[in-house]
Amino acid sequence: MKEKLFSRLEEIYPELVNFRRNLHMYPELSHKEVETPKKVTDFLTDLGLEVKTGVGGRGVVGILRGSRPGKTVALRADFDALPIQDEKDVDYRSRIPGVMHACGHDLHTAGLLGVAKVLSENKDSLEGNVVFIHQFAEEVIPGGAKSMIEDGCLEGVDVIYGAHVNSTAPLGVIGVNEGSSMANGDTFEIEIAGKGVHAAMPHLGIDPLVVGSQLLLNLQQIVSRQVDPLKPAVVSVASFNGGDSFNVIPDKVTLKGTVRTFDDDVRDWVEESIEKIAVNTCKAFGASVTYNYVRGYPAVVNDPVETKRVKKVAKDLFGEEMVQTIPPQMGMEDFAYYLKEVPGTFVWVGGAMEEESKVYPHHHPMFDVQEEAMMYIGKLFISSVLNYFSSTKSLAMK
Ligand code: MN
Repeated sequence: MKEKLFSRLEEIYPELVNFRRNLHMYPELSHKEVETPKKVTDFLTDLGLEVKTGVGGRGVVGILRGSRPGKTVALRADFDALPIQDEKDVDYRSRIPGVMHACGHDLHTAGLLGVAKVLSENKDSLEGNVVFIHQFAEEVIPGGAKSMIEDGCLEGVDVIYGAHVNSTAPLGVIGVNEGSSMANGDTFEIEIAGKGVHAAMPHLGIDPLVVGSQLLLNLQQIVSRQVDPLKPAVVSVASFNGGDSFNVIPDKVTLKGTVRTFDDDVRDWVEESIEKIAVNTCKAFGASVTYNYVRGYPAVVNDPVETKRVKKVAKDLFGEEMVQTIPPQMGMEDFAYYLKEVPGTFVWVGGAMEEESKVYPHHHPMFDVQEEAMMYIGKLFISSVLNYFSSTKSLAMK
C-alpha cells in the first residue's frame, strides 16, 4: 500500500511545486492571511474532505474519515509569511513588496496538501482518520495554534505530527529530538524612572542610565549564578534606550530583552528573578521601576514514544544515515501548544539548496530550499500515519 501511495505522491509532485510557487509569489503576513486559506480550502474541498474554515481565526482544517474505524492522526502545516523583502533571483520570487515566505511554510503547506490528496484517494484502505491542520500565524505571538486548539481542531485527535524544512541541512536529512526540542520563548521590558538633571550636577538627580547599566550587569548573574548549569537558559537584554543629548541626564531608561528556557521551573525562576533584581537594583539607588514580562510560546516537548516511532519510520524509509538526533534549539514554535494537548513529535527535514552559495538561514532575504524536501515530508507523514494505525490496531486486538 505504501508504495502505491508514494508513487502517486511522486506523480502529483509537479502540481505541488506549482502550488508552492504560487504561495511563494503571493505570500501573506501572519494574521493577514486571506487568499492562502482560500487556496488551501479549495484544494481540500476538491478532494471531497470535510473542511472547516476560519478555525480559531484564519485556520483551515480538513477531515478525512477512513473507510474503516480506527484512531485519529493530525498532521500540521503552517502557512504564514514574513515581513522580509525577497531578494532571490528566481521566477517564483515574491510579487508582494516586503513580504516573503522566508521560513518554508509555503512548502509545508503544499507538502501537506499532497499527503491529503494521496490519502483521500485511498481512504478505502485507511484504518482510521486523518485531520489536516493548516495553521495561520506561526511567526508572531500569539500564534494561530492556540486559538485553533481552542476552536476544536484537536477534537478526537489521538496523536499529532509536524515537520519543518531546514534550509541548512542536506536534502532529506531528518533531524529528531526526543524530549524538549525548542525553547520557551519570553520577552521582558523594564522601565527605570530616575530624576533628570543637568549632566554637570549628577548629585541633584537620579541617573537611570547608571542604574540601568548596573541592572543589565546584575541580570547576567541569573544564568551564570542562579540556574543549574545543566539546564539551558538565556537572558539577553537586546535594547537599552534613554537620553539623547550630551549634557542632560534623562528621566527614563528602557531595557528590553528575551528569555529562552526549556524547563518550566527554570522559566518560573528566571521570570521571578528578573523582577526581584530589577526592583531591588532600582530601589538601592532611589529609582522606580515598571516591569513587564510576557510569556511567549511554550517549549516544544516531543513525546518519546511517538518520536521513536517517527525516527524508526524515517530510518526504514530513507536509511539509517539520513536520520540524526539533534540537540535542543533555542528557537521557538507554536507547535508546542498541540503537544501540550496530545502526544506527538515535531521533526526537521533537510532541504538545503544544492549549490552552497545559495544556502541561507531561515528568515533571510535570500532564503530558499529544495522543493523535493516536501516529498520527504510527505512520505514521512504518510508512513507515520500508516504505522500509527497499524500499531494501534494490533494493540486493540490484543
Ligand atoms: Mn517556521
